[in-house]
Amino acid sequence: MNKEKFESLVRNILIEIGEDPNREGLLSTPKRVAEAYEFLTAGYQKDIDEVLNNAIFTEKYDEMVLVKNIDFYSMCEHHMLPFYGKVHVAYIPNGKIVGLSKIPRIVEVFARRLQVQERMTQQIADTLEKYLQPVGVAVVTEAFHMCMMMRGVEKQNSSATTSAMHGVFKDDAKTRNEFINLVGIRNL
Ligand SMILES: [Zn+2]
Repeated sequence: MNKEKFESLVRNILIEIGEDPNREGLLSTPKRVAEAYEFLTAGYQKDIDEVLNNAIFTEKYDEMVLVKNIDFYSMCEHHMLPFYGKVHVAYIPNGKIVGLSKIPRIVEVFARRLQVQERMTQQIADTLEKYLQPVGVAVVTEAFHMCMMMRGVEKQNSSATTSAMHGVFKDDAKTRNEFINLVGIRNL
């Protein structure tokens, strides 16, 4: 990011919405917005290979691994407004497991960029599929979208749920239901 350029763009946004970028409270706003965007879009600079570095292990465990309620904050690519919520990730290993703490890190890589919830959910599942070749992988995302809540339809309490199911989670209703019951999702 060219911070100087970014800050001057923010200054122009302030002018266009009818603000005075020179008033005291706004003087440092372009700088703060640049720093916030740098943080919120840091996922573009992250490399999954590096994130998973040395954290894939050979292991015989063949039951479901579930990490639920992973908090995430992202921004919708249509309005550049936040959407946020929880991601639930499960997989059934096929000889390889990943360090548990790496799963929230994978979520962050894909959340910290402009996104649609559907794609983010798939990218998390595809990453586990690619690196672990598991018997199955399931990802469910439940999110609130500021672009729905603050503008447009202004539906304060409606959340959106998306899912990506691979392998046994897709093919076997019993496994899928076990996952859904463990996570506690009703409307899927
Ligand atoms: Zn939106």
